[in-house]
Amino acid sequence: MTRTERTYLDWNATAPLLPAARDAFVAALDLVGNPSSVHGEGRALRMLVEAARRDVAALVNAAPAHVIFTSGATEAANLVLTPNYRMGRTPLAIGHLYASEIEHPAIREGGRFSREAVTSIPVTPAGVVDLDALETLLQNHDKASGLPMVAVMLANNETGIVQPVKAVAEIVRRHGGLLVVDAVQAVGRMPVDIEALDADFLILSSHKLGGPKGAGALVSRGEVLMPVPLIRGGGQEKGHRSGTENPAALAGFAAAARSAADEPAVRNSRIAGLRDVLEKGMRAATNDVIIHGAEVERVANTSFFSLPGLKSETGQIAFDLEGIALSAGSACSSGKVGQSHVLTAMGFDAALGGLRVSLGPGSTMADVERFLAAFSRVVSRRRAA
Ligand code: PLP
Repeated sequence: MTRTERTYLDWNATAPLLPAARDAFVAALDLVGNPSSVHGEGRALRMLVEAARRDVAALVNAAPAHVIFTSGATEAANLVLTPNYRMGRTPLAIGHLYASEIEHPAIREGGRFSREAVTSIPVTPAGVVDLDALETLLQNHDKASGLPMVAVMLANNETGIVQPVKAVAEIVRRHGGLLVVDAVQAVGRMPVDIEALDADFLILSSHKLGGPKGAGALVSRGEVLMPVPLIRGGGQEKGHRSGTENPAALAGFAAAARSAADEPAVRNSRIAGLRDVLEKGMRAATNDVIIHGAEVERVANTSFFSLPGLKSETGQIAFDLEGIALSAGSACSSGKVGQSHVLTAMGFDAALGGLRVSLGPGSTMADVERFLAAFSRVVSRRRAA
C-alpha cells in the first residue's frame, strides 16, 4: 500500500457524499429564485423543497407537514430542547430535561434549558439507558415546574448501541412527558418510525446519510404542541425556523434519504458481515481487545474497541499514519481527542479511551482487510514497546 492510499472508516463522523446527493445538490444550485417568491422561479424552488420534505418524512414514517428543516441536528436539538412550548397559541412550560448520559453533546448541553433544569439519566454498564432510574427520576419530577421532557437517542454514535426507546416512551407517557429522540445515527441503519417509537420529536442530520453537511431536520409527531422558535424572522418553515431555505442542501439531503430507504435490510446485512469479519480479525490478532457493546444490540456499522495500554489519541494517530481514518469516538471541534463520556457512563476506564471504526454502504472487504493488517502492526508495535 502506498502512503497516499487512504481507507475511510469514520462514517459516524460523516458519510462520504453520495453521487446522487451531489447531483441533486449541484442541479439545485443552478435554479434561480427564492422558495418563498410567488413567481414561477420561486414556485419551482418551493416544489423542490416540498419534495425534499416528503422524502425525509417518508424515511421516518412522518407526515411531510411535520418536518422542519434546519441547518443540522445540532440546530434541531437547540430548537426542540427548550422550556418554552406552545399548545396552539397557549404557552406551555417544560419544567425539566432528563437526557441520557450518553447523548451527543448537541443534546447533553441541554439546548435552551438552564444547567439546573437538566438531569442525566444513567446507563447500565452494558451501555443501555437505565429504565428504573428513568422511572424514579420521573416519579420525583416536580410537576409544578412544568412537564418533564426526556431525551434518549436511538443509536449511540460511539458504540452503536441501540437504546430501548419504545420502553422509554412507555415510561414517559405514564408520567405525561415529552420524548425527544436523536435518530441521527439510526436512520438508514435500522428501521426508524416515529409512530412505532411513540416519540414526540425526532432529530435527523443529512451528512450522516451521505447528504451534504449543514442540513438536518426536526420531525414532530403532531403540530399542536411545538417549541418556541429558536430562529425568528421571515416566518419560513411555518414560523418554526425563519431564514431562506437552502434548496441545494435540502435536495441533497432528500437524495440521501431516498438512498437510505432503499433496501436497508440488504445493505445492513452486508455491512454487519463486514463488521463481523473485522471484529473476529481483531480478536484473532490479540486476546486483549475489548469490544464495547458487543453483547447487546448495536447498529450494524459500528465497532468501538479499546486495547489496554493504548491511549485513544495515540491509537488514532497510529492508524492515521497507516492510512486509516477512524475516530476516537468523541472528537472536540478543536480536533483534540476528548475523553469518552460514553465509556465513563458505562463505568469503563475512560482515561484509556476507545477507538471507533464505523462503516457505511461504500465500505468493502478490502477496507476491512487493510484495517486488520494495520491493526496487527499496531498491536505488535505496542507489544514490542
Ligand atoms: N447527534 C448525534 C448522535 C451525532 O452523531 C451528531 C453528529 O456528530 C449530531 C447529533 C450533530 O449533528 P450535526 O453535525 O448535523 O449538527
